[in-house]
Amino acid sequence: MRKKSTPKLRIKNLPRFLTFSVMSLILIVMITMSLFFLMTKMVEIFNTQKQILQTSSSANLSQTNTPKAETVTTSNTANQNTKTDTSSSDSDPMADIKSRLRSGDTAGIKVVFLTFDDGPSEHTDELLDMLNEYDAKGTFFTTLHDNDNAKAMYRRIIDEGHTLANHTSSHDYSLYNNPEAFLADVDLLDQFQKTITGQTESSYVFRFPGGSTNSNTACVEAILSRGWNYSDWNVSSGDGCSAPPPSDEIAAMIIEGCRENDVSVVLSHAELKESSREAMPIVIETLQAEGYLFLPMEKDYIYPRHLEV
Ligand SMILES: [Zn+2]
Repeated sequence: MRKKSTPKLRIKNLPRFLTFSVMSLILIVMITMSLFFLMTKMVEIFNTQKQILQTSSSANLSQTNTPKAETVTTSNTANQNTKTDTSSSDSDPMADIKSRLRSGDTAGIKVVFLTFDDGPSEHTDELLDMLNEYDAKGTFFTTLHDNDNAKAMYRRIIDEGHTLANHTSSHDYSLYNNPEAFLADVDLLDQFQKTITGQTESSYVFRFPGGSTNSNTACVEAILSRGWNYSDWNVSSGDGCSAPPPSDEIAAMIIEGCRENDVSVVLSHAELKESSREAMPIVIETLQAEGYLFLPMEKDYIYPRHLEV
C-alpha cells in the first residue's frame, strides 16, 4: 500500500508563495488607504452640507403666516453675515432669506424688522450706538426734522446700514383728505433726505402716519402707484401712548410677539420713548440668542399691511 504523502511546501514553491504574500499585503494596504481617503472625503462633504444647512436654516425656516414681510438689505446682512459667515463660495449668505422675504415663503425663518417711528431725535445716536453694539439693523420711519442733529442722524442711519424710510414730512393726518397734498408731503421729505444724505435713490419704504388703516384707499393707491412699498406692523411695543409701560414690560411684549411670527415687524418709537429705548438691548440680546436676525427693510419684501387695496 502506498503511503499517502502529505503536501509539503517545497523549496521550489517558496518564491511563488512569497510573491503572493507580498502582493496580498500591498493589496490590503491599498484597499485600507482607499477606504480611509473615501471616509475623509465623506466627512468633509458632510461638514460642508451641515454648514450650508445651518446657514440657511437660521434664516430660512420661516412660516408662511406673515402676509407681507420684507427685509434685509445688503447691509443688514452684515449682522447675519458675521454670524452665518459660511463658506467661501456663497457671495451673499443672506440671498436665500432675502429671496424668501420677497416671495413670502417665510416658513420657519426667524427675522425681525425693528422699526423706529417719528425720529430723528436727540436720542437717535444713542439708539444707533446700541444697534451697532449688537450688530443689529433697523428701519427708521422718519419725518422731517430740519436741524443739525437730525441731519447728522439721517446720514448716520444710511452710513451704518439701516434703512432710512419715509413717514411723511409733517405726520399730519388731515393730509389723508387730499391725496395730492399727501403725496407732496411725502415727496418733500424724500427730497430733503436725498439732499442731506447725497443718495440718488431712496429706500422706497413707507409707513402711513397712524398706520394704513388711519389712511384711505386713495392714499394707499397713490403710494403704490409711485413705486413705494409700505409696511404696517405685526408686533407693537405698546409705546404709542403718552405713558408707555416700563422697559421690562415693553421688552417682554416685543419678545413674545416676535416668537409668534416667522417675520416680525416691530412698531416702536424708541427715539422718543425712553422705556422703549431701554427695552431694545433686552429684546435684541434675547432674540439673537434664539437665532433671530435683525434686518433692515427693503423695498421688495412682503410686509404686514392692515389696509390692502
Ligand atoms: Zn408716526
